[in-house]
Amino acid sequence: MDIKKNDIIKLKITSMTSQGSGVGKIEGGIVVFVPMSAIGDELSVRILKVKKTYAYGKIEEVLNPSESRIEVDCPNFGKCGGCVYRHISYNSEKEIKYQRVRDATERIGGFKDIKINPVVENDRVNRYRNKAQLPAQNTENGVEFGFYANHSHRIIPCNDCLLQPKDFKKVMDITKDFMQKTSQSAYDERTGRGKLRHLYIRYAEMTDELMVCYVVNGNGLKQEDVLIKELNDNIPNLKSVVFNSNRENTNVVLGLKNRTAYGRDYIEDILCGKRFKLSPLSFYQVNRAQAEKLYEIAKKYADLKGNEVLLDLYCGTGTIGLSMADCCKKLIGVEIIEDAVNDAVKNAEKNNINNARFICGDASYASQKLRQEGVKPDVIIVDPPRKGLDGELIKTISKMSPERVVYVSCDAETLARDLKLFSEKNYSVKEITPVDLFSRTSHVENVCLLTKNS
Ligand code: SAH
Repeated sequence: MDIKKNDIIKLKITSMTSQGSGVGKIEGGIVVFVPMSAIGDELSVRILKVKKTYAYGKIEEVLNPSESRIEVDCPNFGKCGGCVYRHISYNSEKEIKYQRVRDATERIGGFKDIKINPVVENDRVNRYRNKAQLPAQNTENGVEFGFYANHSHRIIPCNDCLLQPKDFKKVMDITKDFMQKTSQSAYDERTGRGKLRHLYIRYAEMTDELMVCYVVNGNGLKQEDVLIKELNDNIPNLKSVVFNSNRENTNVVLGLKNRTAYGRDYIEDILCGKRFKLSPLSFYQVNRAQAEKLYEIAKKYADLKGNEVLLDLYCGTGTIGLSMADCCKKLIGVEIIEDAVNDAVKNAEKNNINNARFICGDASYASQKLRQEGVKPDVIIVDPPRKGLDGELIKTISKMSPERVVYVSCDAETLARDLKLFSEKNYSVKEITPVDLFSRTSHVENVCLLTKNS
């Protein structure tokens, strides 16, 4: 069947891409991707773009809806680039996420019949996030905050995202009002003018502490004292207001320089019974409650008996390693962001942990150095960003020859690629547990146990 732009075709959706787009096939084997569709949908689809073996389309009409469909409860669904699964039941979402991990390990990793446990459920599929980074833009109605539309720099205004705590809206409203009253504008990336770039909010759920960070093109805003008073009068749990300077013409949200304008330069949260200090630049899991479950599984996989040397690579503020430091002889954490390493050191002190040491540096380079120094970890935990591990690091890890490697990953595809490399060395994949940290979005976290071949 030949298709061209603007054709209307009938399509049955049979699977999902890793980004959460529905997939259907038409005669001749051409695959059509349709966002916001559900497996089982029978659709009338308008073709938007045609390539050799695939095409993109959008729903014209749902002829026969999938059984997994539910009513969409957010006006920005499909526009904001955040959620991709608000239109299907949570059970279906979990099935899709499970299948994504299965597909990645088979297709990219080449693993058949690998043990993948059911997806660990999120008890709260809404309002689970403890962090928001909201770009600011100038509109007819003054400064608005929102989200970037999919693959774009257009901002979709959003006053209340269902994934965020309710209080974040208060911060947005106060800030918008302040910007209006003091006639200040948002940064415009085309002209390089205007001050406010992003509003960055962080919430520590267990201590109820809130941090507001303004990312500015410059040093600060005019009449900051007015803004701080307004925030303080309305948000009783406000613990910190920080101005972050970012003068670069870049997509990177945060600059490196912070100035504390009110309260502390950090907030604290409790995770796995330990207290953690969180500075603006330090990484912290966005879903605290699910992160606890994730770390519990990581701890089970690490299977520490008390005498081990544990290496925690990509350790952030030390959370994973410190949550199990009581169970090993020595903990070494490695992290590239200096503020996070400083937090990790303080976090060890704060929790009376005396067997931990933290190194600031690249995981790959630091591991090579540790190996040269003769450090022999019994267990290595890795928790890299989405791009996964580099091949050199996998080589170094296998030379360090730990009994177990616990791989925490936020990207099933790079995980699968790396597991293949490990299995070409002397390691076997024992099992993977997907944990739903990012409900309603396409992302899925995984924790995987690898053991050394005897
Ligand atoms: N394990 C931590 C952090 C995981 S996020 C937790 O669960 O909270 C990944 C971390 O890797 C981030 O803190 C990031 O700053 C750090 N990172 C990124 N690239 C790195 C590299 N090349 N070497 C070491 N750390 C790196």
